[in-house]
Amino acid sequence: MTDTALPPVMPGADEPTADPDQGKAVFERDRAHVFHSWSAQDQIAPTPIAAARGSRFWDYDGNSYLDLASQLVFTNIGHQHPKVVAAIQEQAARLCTVAPQFANDKRAEAAELITSYAPEGLNRVFFTNGGADAIENAVRMARIHTGRPKVLTAYRSYHGNTTTAISLTGDPRRWGNESAAHRDGNTAHFFGPYLYRSHFYATTPEEESERALAHLEQTIQFEGPTTIAAIVLETVVGTAGILIPPPGYLAGVRALCDRYGIIYIADEVMAGFGRTGKWFAIDHWNVAPDLIAFAKGVNSGYVPLGGVIISDAIHDTFRQQVFPGGLTYSGHPLACAAAVATIEVMREEQIVEHAAWLGENVLGPGLREIGARHPSVGEVRGLGAFWALDLVKDRQTREMLVPYGAGGAAAAPMNAVLAECKKHGAWPFTNYNRLQITPPLNLSEDEAREGMAAIDKALAVADKYVVES
Ligand code: PLP
Repeated sequence: MTDTALPPVMPGADEPTADPDQGKAVFERDRAHVFHSWSAQDQIAPTPIAAARGSRFWDYDGNSYLDLASQLVFTNIGHQHPKVVAAIQEQAARLCTVAPQFANDKRAEAAELITSYAPEGLNRVFFTNGGADAIENAVRMARIHTGRPKVLTAYRSYHGNTTTAISLTGDPRRWGNESAAHRDGNTAHFFGPYLYRSHFYATTPEEESERALAHLEQTIQFEGPTTIAAIVLETVVGTAGILIPPPGYLAGVRALCDRYGIIYIADEVMAGFGRTGKWFAIDHWNVAPDLIAFAKGVNSGYVPLGGVIISDAIHDTFRQQVFPGGLTYSGHPLACAAAVATIEVMREEQIVEHAAWLGENVLGPGLREIGARHPSVGEVRGLGAFWALDLVKDRQTREMLVPYGAGGAAAAPMNAVLAECKKHGAWPFTNYNRLQITPPLNLSEDEAREGMAAIDKALAVADKYVVES
């Protein structure tokens, strides 16, 4: 085997051949030359991945992991789906790339398919390379369309890593980017609904919805309604906690946007393309935003792709006026061919319906049952293939197992829980005090039960930190 070859994963073969020496070589080359995201470079030890298939991946030592994170919540149809791999290969053989100023068959087909799942009146797609630039361009469209500068977002949010997107981000990843040179100054934050840790002293979903809307309206009034171009909202907040909006909240946001002439931008980068058991998460609440940002699940991340779905009214602004933005790889044929194939596979295999079924019948009941037995689990919430366990030191006070924004030694309890999950062959997503379970949408029932059994064992580690009041 050459030092760049992967161990073979043949259809029907269960496991790739272990090759620890090769794994060590990959690790050393990575550490010598690769600069990693969101990290102090000397404090990380990235696991070299040898191969992946379906809901599983392997390291070079022969260990396999159930991918309960879908990598970074993007392999919605699992790894190496043969139809999507074949579509990429076919497109590569036919036409790898063309510049965005030309028309391209796969780009047009992808846009048509994507808009076919959007609410009525959203008929155009501006393609980007990922989620942050989708948000960046959606905000630019809203600012030009309204002639207003400011954008409001929730504190509990992540919107990406370009200047505007990171300024909009509510979570602590924004803090390191706040120097004057790196801040889009026309951004302001508000608290969205989160009943378990209500900012509004609410005790019911209805109260939370009503009070969160009143707080948002006050924020609009104090920021100056005529200065606000857009509100950007993750339909279901992803990284910052799998927070499902209570009844009436999104309709209320839509109504506030209409009242004050504000553009409603739905960030569906993580929640879109089946993650919640609907094609778009907004379909749960029948609300039509003006712009929808998407990425990740649109082609399961096989080739980088994102975009903005645009309402007819905003599209009209740019019929005669130039949209002052563009990207060399906007609508890249390989990425769009992967999107077309992914969406077709999701339809044929009823993957979105499966995600809804899995949430209702397997993950939801299973995680709640496990949560009830572990004193470290404060709340289990989610839908579809999008779940979070909110871990606590104390169920009464709801004190978080590790504090918000915790890193280094303060994060040790969560690191121990994650290490225990991995020891039992499951790789979930963690963020501060939360274990997040976001597997491929086509995870089988047996795989889901296997993953939950690993989490059950790992929670015994979290329980050790519990201090009942
Ligand atoms: N918006 C949301 C809700 C996300 O979860 C992410 C990434 O995790 C982004 C935007 C940014 O996407 P990308 O990393 O593709 O730029």
